[in-house]
Amino acid sequence: MKHINYWSIEALQLFVVLLCCIGLQQLCGNWAVAIGVSVSVYISVLLWRLWQVVQWLERGLPDNFTPTGYGVINALVKQMVAYKKNREQRHQQQQATVQQVTDIITAMPSATVILNQHNEIEWANYPALLLLGIDSNTDIGINITSLLRQSKFIKQLGKMLDKKASREFEMVSPVNADITLMIQLAKYTDDKWLLLAHNISSHIENQNSKKTFIANASHELRTPLTVITGYLEFMQSDPKLPKSLRTPVKKSLQQSANMCSLVEDLLTLSRLESKTLDKSALVQIDAQQHLNGILQTLNANNKLADYKISQSVSEGLTLHAVPKELDSVCYNLINNALKYSEKGTEIRIVWEKINKKHIKFSVTDNGIGIAPEHIAHLSERFYRVDSGRSRRVGGTGLGLSIVKHIIERHNGHLEIHSRFGEGSTFSVILPVKI
Ligand code: ADP
Repeated sequence: MKHINYWSIEALQLFVVLLCCIGLQQLCGNWAVAIGVSVSVYISVLLWRLWQVVQWLERGLPDNFTPTGYGVINALVKQMVAYKKNREQRHQQQQATVQQVTDIITAMPSATVILNQHNEIEWANYPALLLLGIDSNTDIGINITSLLRQSKFIKQLGKMLDKKASREFEMVSPVNADITLMIQLAKYTDDKWLLLAHNISSHIENQNSKKTFIANASHELRTPLTVITGYLEFMQSDPKLPKSLRTPVKKSLQQSANMCSLVEDLLTLSRLESKTLDKSALVQIDAQQHLNGILQTLNANNKLADYKISQSVSEGLTLHAVPKELDSVCYNLINNALKYSEKGTEIRIVWEKINKKHIKFSVTDNGIGIAPEHIAHLSERFYRVDSGRSRRVGGTGLGLSIVKHIIERHNGHLEIHSRFGEGSTFSVILPVKI
């Protein structure tokens, strides 16, 4: 409605100009002079008011200078005043949101630091002082690497900048060696990085006490289990064993063998978790010789006879690894292929070089395969797609967990490709040299 009013007023003004024009013509008797004078006055007034608006705009739309008047120019001024109000309101809302977010981040128990593309600190909350020793009063503008000098941090920061991808790693607090931090580095705009540090000491402590408990319990179980298995084996081999006891003894022996495997796997995992890789234990290993040894042992245990085993090893392929740990990786993957495939099917084992720095060990079977939703969880402890089947074939649910641990200690990773009902390929990618 207002819009129409402004135009009506403008039309009224034009009508007045027209009347003036007619009046002037009556006075001077000349249409050209009358029109010229009337239009000039009208345009001059319009220009003067426009000049006022431009001045007002140049001063940033101050309230006390708002041009007044009638007609379309006033409509323009009103629109601009409304726009300014709207902008101010939005600005206030944004400021309130920013303040709210700042308050939340400041109140968070985790340290939060904002870095620019030169790794200089732009902002830090109070926990950053307690956990990282970064003081928001004195350290703004300082390169973070001159405050957090730990080589692990500098390396991870460099990797994140190189790959422009988020990183997550554990680190001891530079302020207090008893505090373990989980550091998360993430890019949140083109030239800004966010560093979050969470205190995970109590979580680590809990995990450590759980691990110690499992290691101690497994250790305590080992001796009695060995004794029980020994007696059961002795009973089974006794020809005088009553017929009625043969099946129970056989089943008990099977169960105690499963228990022994479980205890051994738990102890292996505890050992792997409690010690970092001892680099002096790394040995140069010939892939072909190593595979021959593994296949011989499996053959001796009569495990391979029912399957078609094929192998391919790139000539002269060698790698650096801890021999016992590499044995464990290969046994676990080949044993799984045997356990989860039908007799008579083919199992293919390959050692190959995939690029200058990496080699791959893969075991492919044509067995039961794995549905996609399980694949990401297979290396979790005790994760089994079908626990009944796994137990029946002597599985503990820890094999892939052990494999993953060992590979990661060797700076490698595990890849799993599988199709349910068709078969699986488990591949281990390892660096030629650690
Ligand atoms: P398990 O001792 O039960 O075999 P693992 O940790 O070795 O434990 O494997 C975890 C689970 O992954 C197994 O229970 C099985 O369901 C699945 N799995 C492992 N290897 C294969 C394979 N080659 N084919 C199909 N399923 C497999």
